[in-house]
Amino acid sequence: MRKVVAIYPGSFDPITNGHLDIIERGTRLFDELIVAVLVNTEKAPLFSAEERADMIQEILGNRAPKVRIATFEGLLVTFAQRQNARVIVRGIRAVSDYEYELQMALMNRRMQPEIETVFMMPSEAYSYLSSRLVREVFRFGGTIDGLVPPLVIERLRSKLVRL
Ligand code: ADP
Repeated sequence: MRKVVAIYPGSFDPITNGHLDIIERGTRLFDELIVAVLVNTEKAPLFSAEERADMIQEILGNRAPKVRIATFEGLLVTFAQRQNARVIVRGIRAVSDYEYELQMALMNRRMQPEIETVFMMPSEAYSYLSSRLVREVFRFGGTIDGLVPPLVIERLRSKLVRL
């Protein structure tokens, strides 16, 4: 049978335990999961694409042999096709995610009908968690222990001290 390669795209600015939860669920379903870090995001990112990808690599280490980390620019479906990926994985936290995700999934399907988008729900413990909230809470001195890996806290600390 053909290997099923899935792509999990996002800004990951920075990666959170919610993202890691989806990655773990994804590796149970697919033969290979490419975590694809978006370079040209509309939002001005806190971390460069390389910094975001390096963090993910260091956190996953060799613990996740089915996961590959990449950065991409431009259309996701073009990148997915080049990687021979048949599935796009997205995480859905609350109903509020649904409308935007539905629009994107249907636009991607219009451009590339053979690629399916699969939505996955994280553990409810992470259902309110976003990279934006992590950045804001950390910036103003709140605790983000348990919401991101310790390495992310370290990187946030050195990044925000330098700003
Ligand atoms: P984007 O800028 O593409 O929304 P994000 O890095 O914010 O990128 O998120 C990437 C993907 O991970 C999206 O599908 C998003 O819905 C999902 N996601 C983000 N945070 C969580 C979380 N706490 N639990 C589950 N999925 C999440």
